Amino acid sequence: MNNNADRHPPPQFASDTYAGICPEALEALARANEGHAPAYGDDPWTARATALLRDLFETDCAVFFVPTGTAANALALAALCRSYHSVLCHADAHIQTDECGAPEHAAGGIKIVPVPGAEGKLTPDLVREAASKRRDVHSHKPGVLSLSQATEAGTVYTVQELRALGEAARALRLRLHVDGARFANAVASLRLPPKALTWQAGVDVLSFGGTKNGMAFGDAVVFFDGALAEGFEYIRKQAGHLLAKMRYVAAPWAAMLESGAWLRNAEHANAMARELETGLRGVDGVSILYPVQANAVFVQMPPRWVEELHRRGWHFYTIAGGERLMGSWDTEPQDVEAFLKDLRNVAAHS
Ligand SMILES: *Cc1c(COP(=O)(O)O)cnc(C)c1O
Repeated sequence: MNNNADRHPPPQFASDTYAGICPEALEALARANEGHAPAYGDDPWTARATALLRDLFETDCAVFFVPTGTAANALALAALCRSYHSVLCHADAHIQTDECGAPEHAAGGIKIVPVPGAEGKLTPDLVREAASKRRDVHSHKPGVLSLSQATEAGTVYTVQELRALGEAARALRLRLHVDGARFANAVASLRLPPKALTWQAGVDVLSFGGTKNGMAFGDAVVFFDGALAEGFEYIRKQAGHLLAKMRYVAAPWAAMLESGAWLRNAEHANAMARELETGLRGVDGVSILYPVQANAVFVQMPPRWVEELHRRGWHFYTIAGGERLMGSWDTEPQDVEAFLKDLRNVAAHS
């Protein structure tokens, strides 16, 4: 067992989805749980959270809350695509590897086109090449470029990279979707206003994650081009993703934005990943696979060490060619130290 017996159950580095609900979100849930309120998003919390997101992005965006990130991505892509369109994305993109074909299902038969790229990222050249391979009627019509920010490899697109990809997409007549399940971690990493990473770089739609940031559930689909949001309320309802008691998603969102917890949580999770990285670099036999720019560290180490760490009670997953260790809003420095202590111990006895 790891040394954090005082925390029940012990903290883990498996995923930011293993962490519970942060205090700001939990208190907001309790406060919203008073009496009756209009259902299906006609409540004051949904109006407030929507207004706060418009303030955050400094634009009059259209906002729709959905229960999961998969729903956010699938329905956003359904709004952008006709059934004959394709969506270009990184080969490790969540929409390609982890959504059970939800976007293809929601959008009535679209094709996801996975494009390999270094460190979880795509480049304008890779996008141009993928989009121009075939343009005939027998293939499919490239309709959307979907980027993950932060990426599945724990890296972050710079604003220059995003702008270049936005320009490439525009030139190819592709809409630009961003899977921001960890958008907060990217903002915390780059320390830039959210508008610089979205509409100012040509992003049409953002799936903005709340779950991994410290909420119980609930992600936001944010349209920066109002025309693209037309009919989206029907797409959401038809898919069964319009929550009747919407206030339980919206109230935590409003509280997270108002208190600044959304950014603090992400900064903290990122800092814990950096601390883990620093410690891991000091262990012979461990190598870091990708630049640590958000809240994930990908490492390679001997399989026997992985087995032994699992045996000692540490959960983590083998993903994208390495072991993925993730910081969360509630990871504490002593958790990092406990993990490193066990790892050093395992390494010393190998
Ligand atoms: C977690 C995640 C999602 C959404 O996952 P859900 O389990 O459906 O909430 C989407 N994209 C990325 C990159 C993710 O890591």
